[in-house]
Amino acid sequence: MTKRDIGLYIHFPYCRRHCRYCHFTTARYCSAGSEDYLKLLGREIELSEHRDLVVRTVYLGGGSPSLMSLRQLEALAQTLKRCFRPWVAEEVTIEANPEDLSPEWLRGAVRNGFNRISIGVQSLDNHVLRCLGRNHSADTGLKSISQAADAGFFNINVDFMLGIPGQTPTNVAQQVRFLKELPVTHLSIYLLELTPEDTRSHEKSGQQMYLAARDAAEDAGYHRYEVSSFARPGLECRHNLTYWRNREYMGIGLSAAGFLDGMDIRNTRNMLRYVRGIQAGRPVRTRRRISEQQRRLVTGLRLVEGVPLSILQSRLTDLQPLLEAGILLIHRNRLSVAPDSVLMLNEILGRYVL
Ligand code: SF4
Repeated sequence: MTKRDIGLYIHFPYCRRHCRYCHFTTARYCSAGSEDYLKLLGREIELSEHRDLVVRTVYLGGGSPSLMSLRQLEALAQTLKRCFRPWVAEEVTIEANPEDLSPEWLRGAVRNGFNRISIGVQSLDNHVLRCLGRNHSADTGLKSISQAADAGFFNINVDFMLGIPGQTPTNVAQQVRFLKELPVTHLSIYLLELTPEDTRSHEKSGQQMYLAARDAAEDAGYHRYEVSSFARPGLECRHNLTYWRNREYMGIGLSAAGFLDGMDIRNTRNMLRYVRGIQAGRPVRTRRRISEQQRRLVTGLRLVEGVPLSILQSRLTDLQPLLEAGILLIHRNRLSVAPDSVLMLNEILGRYVL
């Protein structure tokens, strides 16, 4: 029997401090805590009943994995190679904060098999970075990109955040265009999540910034293949495509999610329960089955390529009003969201799919 290919997500939850806009599961960094946690991660991998699957992509996210020492990165890489045989991962990404990076650390990450880096640059405007509560400056962000390239990363993603007071569509577009001159192969452009107190005009300006950033990214040669993701041709994030194309992946670590054997699996978000579960040899996680149709709509409509009509026939009548309004499109037997309606995706999913 042919072995199944999977993506592997690994969560390192520690950060120096919690950024005020962040919704990820994080914990305050301490050296001893992170050391113990990484031992538990290794144990969770050893305990997995899915070690016979073939890992094609790895994404080490967080949190701030760039706080891991080179010794810790090496130990994790060794565990993966020992537990998943043969080790044939083709895309291995690590998330990083600009202020954590040094040439030595970056070279060490490359030596340990990481070939893609995702840097949380967020903005090239110091005022915006201060508003976000980030620890780095625009210069540090720019320096981290060139250091990563010099160390041997040829595939570099930059995270960019929009919708922050002080940003305008014009300066956002200028910054995105500037990245074209740097060795950046991929852009992830996110709109800051609005709180209930935010006004309609705030929402509108966020949308204008997104459209300006999107147009600038496309002019600069990054094609949009997902709501927030833009890539140089052939350098789309293969790991994230695993999620959006409804393929299987495994999640390791606190709060990590997976999709295996038709089940959505999520590790506990509670550190104490996570620790006790792994120590007892019984990871604490929930499993639930979501219909394939619902799953494919929720994940696949994020993609420019959309989803195959064949899996949706029974829903087409429900979606008819959106097709008539030009919000959804059918092209070559696939259903997708019209380019100017992508910011309505959550609303579409909430009203018509979930
Ligand atoms: S560094 Fe990243 S993961 Fe950590 S709190 Fe800030 S945004 Fe969240």
